[in-house]
Amino acid sequence: MAHPTYRARGIVVRKTKLGEMDLIVTFLASDGSQMRAVAKGARKPGGALAGKIEIANTVDVLCSVGRNLDTVKEARLSASYPSFRSDVEKAACAACIAELCERVTQVDLPHARLFDMIEAAFRTLDRAQGAVVFSCTAAVLLKLFAFTGVAPQLSHCAVCGGPLNADASRTPFSVEEGGSVCVSCADTVSAWPVDTATVQVASALLRATFDAIVAAGDQGMRARAVLELCRDWSRFHVGSRIRSLDFLLDGNAGIAW
Ligand SMILES: [Zn+2]
Repeated sequence: MAHPTYRARGIVVRKTKLGEMDLIVTFLASDGSQMRAVAKGARKPGGALAGKIEIANTVDVLCSVGRNLDTVKEARLSASYPSFRSDVEKAACAACIAELCERVTQVDLPHARLFDMIEAAFRTLDRAQGAVVFSCTAAVLLKLFAFTGVAPQLSHCAVCGGPLNADASRTPFSVEEGGSVCVSCADTVSAWPVDTATVQVASALLRATFDAIVAAGDQGMRARAVLELCRDWSRFHVGSRIRSLDFLLDGNAGIAW
């Protein structure tokens, strides 16, 4: 009996090896939900799927419905980013975005506009030059938290909603309480001091368009500090480490911070 088939567009966010030649592929589907399918022969050099099922690529797939997992029958590339295969910094950044995307999305739980945001993020990363890629990546991680309802509060006190002291060099920050906190609330919760400039850059990145982030240029070590904030945030609010982010921040990706 022929299995029913369907067409879908997805961004590859995770590849899991299956046997010698196959992959289980996790996609961000065009409605912002997660989609998983087996790609048979995807690891076979020269095969029909070779080079298409790569992290960050957008592919149009024809899938057949399976009892457990569906199977990718055909795939056509819709968008790919050659610089991610040649530039270690961009590859590491794309991996962080894909990994968090995989963690915060779920099958059958759509997020309107998430697909467009992630595709725009990869396009931006592909054309960005130099250290601005880290600002872009920090922005995408923050936006991903926001899309899935766990954005940190960065412009007001997360506890009382009151104003923050923008003139102080440090701002108390509490992962548990939901972000930056004012000085009086900091005494009542578990918070640690973060450079106020880091909180302000994170707040700006969360709200900015990718064009504006690229135009603003390299944020230097400030972007790294925001990525560290995202690492702590993910552990508590997503419930898991982003291993690619550890890899990026711990210098294992060959990046000299
Ligand atoms: Zn407060």
